Amino acid sequence: MSGPDFDRLRPRTPKSPAVRPADPQGRRSLYSAVEQPPALGAVTVDCSSCGRTSVITPRRLLGLATPSVHLPLVKRGHPSWMRCPSCGRRSWVRLGIRL
Ligand SMILES: [Zn+2]
Repeated sequence: MSGPDFDRLRPRTPKSPAVRPADPQGRRSLYSAVEQPPALGAVTVDCSSCGRTSVITPRRLLGLATPSVHLPLVKRGHPSWMRCPSCGRRSWVRLGIRL
């Protein structure tokens, strides 16, 4: 009987298909948004360290976001690690696009 084996695998299967395809796509959309400055008006940066929301130009963002880390799956609220334009510290921030 293979019943017990299937029961063991069950908890793993529902999660992995949902998480895996989201990872590369999430990163790509984030990077492509950063690399297309012309059409965008401004980028908002919500800082988890000082609590402020900064509005910067996409070009400024490129300078602040190198190097940066984006973990959309691990960090839900503030998934990007980069220098905050408001307090100048490296902290977890959330990027937004203001049109
Ligand atoms: Zn800050």
